[in-house]
Amino acid sequence: MSKCKCFGVMLEKVTENLREQLPEKERDSFKARWENEALIMEENTMTTTVGIPVSYEYQKLKKSGEPHKNTTKGDVKMMMSFCPFCGANLKDQKEGAE
Ligand SMILES: [Zn+2]
Repeated sequence: MSKCKCFGVMLEKVTENLREQLPEKERDSFKARWENEALIMEENTMTTTVGIPVSYEYQKLKKSGEPHKNTTKGDVKMMMSFCPFCGANLKDQKEGAE
């Protein structure tokens, strides 16, 4: 995240909280991560950001015009303009980035 550290901080809190509920011997293997993370290029460095997923499907046709047996499915992630936790502007990366 460019403007704020909410996603990292939130994930840490969740991880800590859930890990504490586990028996001690199981805690080491615990991992949590954001779903729907996407890689983005930001000033020549790759960073990850969380997007809101949109899934789609359609009936793909063969060259003959005949439909494929299964529908074609995919998803895209829409990037958020503002942080849902603190409201920081996530798009405006040039001013006041931490
Ligand atoms: Zn934030």
